[in-house]
Amino acid sequence: MYINRFSIALSMALAASACFAQEDRFAAVEITDQHINGPIHMLMGAGGNIGVSIGDDGTLIIDDQYAPLAERIQAALRRLGGNRPELILNTHLHGDHTGGNAFFGDDGVIVAHANVRSRLLAQGDLPNAALPAVTFADTLTVHFNGDDIQVIHLPHGHTDGDSVVLFTNSNVLHMGDLFFNGSFPFVDMASGGTVTGYMDDQRQILARIPSDIAIIPGHGPMATKQDLALALSMIETTHSMVNRAMDAGSSVDEVIAQGLGEDYKSWGAGFINEERWIRTLAADRQAAQ
Ligand SMILES: [Zn+2]
Repeated sequence: MYINRFSIALSMALAASACFAQEDRFAAVEITDQHINGPIHMLMGAGGNIGVSIGDDGTLIIDDQYAPLAERIQAALRRLGGNRPELILNTHLHGDHTGGNAFFGDDGVIVAHANVRSRLLAQGDLPNAALPAVTFADTLTVHFNGDDIQVIHLPHGHTDGDSVVLFTNSNVLHMGDLFFNGSFPFVDMASGGTVTGYMDDQRQILARIPSDIAIIPGHGPMATKQDLALALSMIETTHSMVNRAMDAGSSVDEVIAQGLGEDYKSWGAGFINEERWIRTLAADRQAAQ
């Protein structure tokens, strides 16, 4: 009896400490805002950058970071004169971009590519409010706060359900995780991403955007078209470096030991370090063969 009570108390204590650990991770996170252009702002906290449009039609957000931050995100929107968002666009399925869906999806309509809904549904543990209620296959246009907002799906890049969001009048582009500004990108092959697709997606975007557009990357600071071109050129160059070395008979471990050189050091300071990036390039090569 005593043992039972003790083990119940112990497991409750463990559950509570797991809970605190989760809380602690976000305890110090503050949501900061940056005005971009016209009705468009960016919010930063932890996880993917949030795009915001606030105006006469109401409030629209792109991505919503992690669940424990949802109320702080809502407070930031109110600070900017916004309200509960009518529309929530998800650029892709990852939890650092969709964690607030249950909170915001209670009042607002979540919109995403069809693969985002099916992959979130397959997780099996999300409430209905967290799932996109409106899905699309290729493109969708939302007319809101004076913008024709084009939500454009691009295939097999970071995942198989990525969209970028183009505010044609405000001249702002939110790229989700098809752009990590200044760092090696995460390519989620288990969710249908590929490196070659990622490069193709970035080339397509570069070909259609004006040179003075403001770009909200999925991660990292605000960017220009030149920053995006630089990120693509980094991927192209390291992709051919790794492929050339492996064509010549090097193993992945040998390529890692050799390294990419000083020029690429700063790109590995983020979530994906140099080793992980080389392993991604090698896995992509393997998958393509
Ligand atoms: Zn992601």
